[in-house]
Amino acid sequence: MTNYYPDLQNIDLREELHAILFGRVDLVAQGRPFILRKMTDTKCVCFDEVSGGTKVPNCRYCGGEAYYWTEQEFTMWMAQGVAPVYKPGFLASGQYPQAGLGYTDPNRATCYCEYNVFPDWERYTLPTNPSPDKLYVLKVDDNGNKVVPVIRTAKWKIMNVVPMHGDFGRVEFFELTLEKEIVA
Ligand SMILES: [Zn+2]
Repeated sequence: MTNYYPDLQNIDLREELHAILFGRVDLVAQGRPFILRKMTDTKCVCFDEVSGGTKVPNCRYCGGEAYYWTEQEFTMWMAQGVAPVYKPGFLASGQYPQAGLGYTDPNRATCYCEYNVFPDWERYTLPTNPSPDKLYVLKVDDNGNKVVPVIRTAKWKIMNVVPMHGDFGRVEFFELTLEKEIVA
């Protein structure tokens, strides 16, 4: 006989976020494609010791980031305009405080990604990263599928990487707090 009421029926938050992003028989996928640009500690040849930035805004090696970086594609879920006001190193703690009054900021956003996206999350919670990572939004077609070859539609600066802990204290997912980078 089928046991409809098992003793233990834990919800696995890693599994749930995966289902939200990629879909499941009871869920329509809500994830979107992004490119994560992770900064390394290695300064680019264009690095300017005085300003801490680049001397060459469109440097051919780093694209003006002043540090070398790697890029990888991830599926994440983004909520725009609901992020609180963040500062680097401060942890996010909820929704934009004045959202109830109608004040939301489309240049701030909160993103959720899977537990394996930032294996080095201590780099962000006790910050040692020299420059914020960047998140590019990728264009999708009418059905939500990624347009190939990829087209980047927006650039966000990752102000915080907040690990959300759950079962056994492990990281279940990450909350990213973002600020739009206006690229002139
Ligand atoms: Zn450079």
